[in-house]
Amino acid sequence: MIISFENVSKTYDGKDIALVGASFAVPQGAFACVIGPSGGGKSTVLKIIAGITDASSGVVVKPKLVSMVFQTGALMPWLTVMENIAFGLHGKGLSMSRIRSTALKYFKMLDLQGLEGKLPRDLSGGQRGRVGIARALAVNPHVLLLDEPFSALDPQMTDELHKDIIKIWKETGKTIVMVSHSIEEAVALSTMVILVKDYAVKKVFDIDLPRPRHEHALPFMREVRQIKREFFK
Ligand code: ADP
Repeated sequence: MIISFENVSKTYDGKDIALVGASFAVPQGAFACVIGPSGGGKSTVLKIIAGITDASSGVVVKPKLVSMVFQTGALMPWLTVMENIAFGLHGKGLSMSRIRSTALKYFKMLDLQGLEGKLPRDLSGGQRGRVGIARALAVNPHVLLLDEPFSALDPQMTDELHKDIIKIWKETGKTIVMVSHSIEEAVALSTMVILVKDYAVKKVFDIDLPRPRHEHALPFMREVRQIKREFFK
């Protein structure tokens, strides 16, 4: 297992509860979606995996190198698209040509051709999202963490990015952990869904549907219904 939580709890300042007794495991190469109502502990799970915050108790196993993509892409506004993608590669002792070729590889993988010299302010929300993902992948992390990366996008763009992220997942074999508040999105993308609610991991669902997945197919709807039952319990 590349990630595992065993009876993990988190309180802030010793009083504000964020997570209680969470246990789950994510196998190498999985696409895990963390879903649940707002304020239930999803971001806390992600932050502990990212090493942004530590668990207060319990045992956490996580890989050394994780890369996080935030909602807005969190790009450097003064850097061009290509410079943003290369950003994390500086200071690692790589040659300039190696940095350039690595950035170019992920630039192409995310279909950003024609945008290399543009600044973030000149990009659409979807394009910014793709640059954020390319930048995160460029450092070759063991796990890619996505914090509701599609929540600010319109449905068509979300659809395109869903296809991109599945393509990347297949091409790179990376383990992905993504926070989402959409059950449909989680079922469309993932191999497992971790339901986090009331500061606890309530249930883990294995999603074993063939791809491409269609929202109106019966097995898809059955899966969504089953998760909804637990979500709204
Ligand atoms: P979600 O991502 O599901 O919306 P969070 O993990 O952000 O939920 O939050 C879970 C709980 O932990 C919430 O009640 C929230 O108020 C609390 N919490 C999160 N971060 C902090 C913090 N830095 N200080 C105090 N309480 C926090």
